[in-house]
Amino acid sequence: MTEHRARKRFGQNFLSDPNIIRKIIDAIRPVAGETMVEIGPGLGAMTAPLVERLGHLHVVEIDRDLIARLHETYPPERLTVHEGDALEFDFGSLGTPLRVVGNLPYNISTPLLFHLAGFAAQVRDMTFMLQKEVVMRMVAAPGSEDYGRLSVMLQYRFRMARLFDVPPGAFRPAPKVTSSIVRMVPLPAAELAAEDEALFARIVAAAFGQRRKTLRNTLREFLAEADYTALDLDPGLRGERLTVGEYVAIANHVARKQAPAGR
Ligand code: SAM
Repeated sequence: MTEHRARKRFGQNFLSDPNIIRKIIDAIRPVAGETMVEIGPGLGAMTAPLVERLGHLHVVEIDRDLIARLHETYPPERLTVHEGDALEFDFGSLGTPLRVVGNLPYNISTPLLFHLAGFAAQVRDMTFMLQKEVVMRMVAAPGSEDYGRLSVMLQYRFRMARLFDVPPGAFRPAPKVTSSIVRMVPLPAAELAAEDEALFARIVAAAFGQRRKTLRNTLREFLAEADYTALDLDPGLRGERLTVGEYVAIANHVARKQAPAGR
């Protein structure tokens, strides 16, 4: 096969360090017969060991040249290639429980994580390689500099752990940044306590919309002074001080306030 030239617009940095590849596969622990999808298989650094251990794998890939290579390398009973944009892919169509893995294209990682969060109910776990900086934001605790909208929205739905870092030298071409492996396990549906998840998302977005401002300013649209007393919350705090549970409490308080009387 001719050599593939990495395309920047598709965030292509291909894993080339066999020790790192082995470490990632060991962290995923694929077991024969599981339903798994790999996002962005690229030249197949992870695809080959995954197919070998699972027997069959789904992949979602956008690059036509790479798709042609995958078809040449694997018979359809070993690899199902879904051609197209992972941001639009219906992960719910693959069956449940689904395991999701991938060395994600970093240029679309945040919208992709939000897209995937929508399938949490069907997913068993997700193991991704992402830019370390993004992983730090995903797992950040309240009060830390990295804690923001991404932390709250993902921690609401998933238990997450940063497993280990991967240096730029493990890829061809080498990216400018360090990467990290993160595991995301959906929380049981019963633990998702926001009564109106769209409202919860709007409140979190507002609280982090202007980082320097206090809740009194950022949540003006949702909360009056009396509401802070009812919630036992200091309106002089900034959004980054609040836990996920406190955001849920705010959203549920607002939902009940907005609900018509008698409900
Ligand atoms: N998994 C390979 C590896 O570890 O060597 C490749 C990883 S590379 C960082 C990202 C891969 O995602 C590339 O194969 C790229 O073509 C693919 N990709 C980029 N944008 C995509 C999208 N929107 N949907 C699906 N795949 C995409």
